[in-house]
Amino acid sequence: MWTLVLNCGSSSLKFALLDPDTRELQLSGLAERLGVDGASLRLDRDGERRTHDLKGGGHAAALDRLLAELSALGLLDGVAAVGHRVVHGGERFSAPARITPEVMEAIRACVPLAPLHNPANIAGIEAAQAAFPGVPQVAVFDTAFHQTMPPVAYRYAVPEAWYHHYGVRRYGFHGTSHAYVAGEAAGMLGRPLEDLNLITAHLGNGSSVCAVAGGRSVDTSMGLTPLEGLVMGTRSGDVDPGLHDYVARQSGLSLSEVTGALNRESGLLGLSNLASDMRELEEAAGRGHAGARLALDVFVYRLAGTVAQMAAALGRVDGLVFTGGIGENSASVRAQTLARLGFLGFALDEKANAAAVRGGSGLVTRTGTLPALVVNTNEELMIARQTQDVVTGS
Ligand code: ADP
Repeated sequence: MWTLVLNCGSSSLKFALLDPDTRELQLSGLAERLGVDGASLRLDRDGERRTHDLKGGGHAAALDRLLAELSALGLLDGVAAVGHRVVHGGERFSAPARITPEVMEAIRACVPLAPLHNPANIAGIEAAQAAFPGVPQVAVFDTAFHQTMPPVAYRYAVPEAWYHHYGVRRYGFHGTSHAYVAGEAAGMLGRPLEDLNLITAHLGNGSSVCAVAGGRSVDTSMGLTPLEGLVMGTRSGDVDPGLHDYVARQSGLSLSEVTGALNRESGLLGLSNLASDMRELEEAAGRGHAGARLALDVFVYRLAGTVAQMAAALGRVDGLVFTGGIGENSASVRAQTLARLGFLGFALDEKANAAAVRGGSGLVTRTGTLPALVVNTNEELMIARQTQDVVTGS
């Protein structure tokens, strides 16, 4: 039996059909530019890739096409459940939930907290309910893993009424990835997750760090929104809260325009004035591009500082995990970050670090020193497992 995992963005739909027990992947793909000319669906199966024109169709058209494909492949009857990635579950969801009308209402109630993401997730759920009638659907929340954070980690020092009336607190994101790689790292270290204090660094286009004590999140770098914390591809991460008002006054931009610029024109892109993509920046820095060098240096400086902050949250550190496109592939970001964190006990194994790229994983530090390791994240697998657990009641 297969689980279909759906990850819907405003104009995209990423999917995977897999067996959560064996990890076997039947079919995966991505629909892009949904709702506009050029909308397309890419299907990957057994190393072969095909692309379909969706003729401007939206999420429903993408799912219809996928359905036809599953039917032609004889896979449709094997779809036992659909698992949806949902970005924001607020304080209501600390675990995945089977989708009922009440759960849909609660996801809708979280729209003000994630105005770009939750409406797309809702559109995906509605399209999937229509496409797969009678198949159980489960919501897996990016925020749920962090609901174990204590108040010292999740409360902002702002008027108390903002927390009670508007839900102003730190929620954290990337929970599925942090939870998955922490579990995998424990296996690689040969120790029970319950006994370990780990720091996980998910470094992709969006990036966050998490302090995981005994398998539970106790702090993380993202907050009310995914804008807080580290320097990201186009997101600023932490800035002075006074910046918004200052820039708005100086530039004549509205507050929402300032927020837009902090989300889309900042981070690595803003610092380098060149690109948001780490690979491109590493190449440019190698050619002597000063902006690219600065962007890389600030990225690493802030990452190391945030890892140290997570170490303080944990009190004792048993390991650091790198994951996400940058964490899994940039040996240079890992080397520079660990060099700054030598005081915690890390000592780089240069050969192992150079080898842990493009799917390679494992320890990148020398034997007898504090372990840092590369783990390939697999959010689809984690969502499929959690979906199966909810459906089977285990
Ligand atoms: P998303 O957060 O969108 O899922 P990914 O996890 O795929 O993104 O990460 C994308 C980032 O990973 C980009 O900045 C990209 O440049 C970086 N990356 C991928 N491969 C490499 C590489 N070989 N060296 C350095 N950075 C890489």
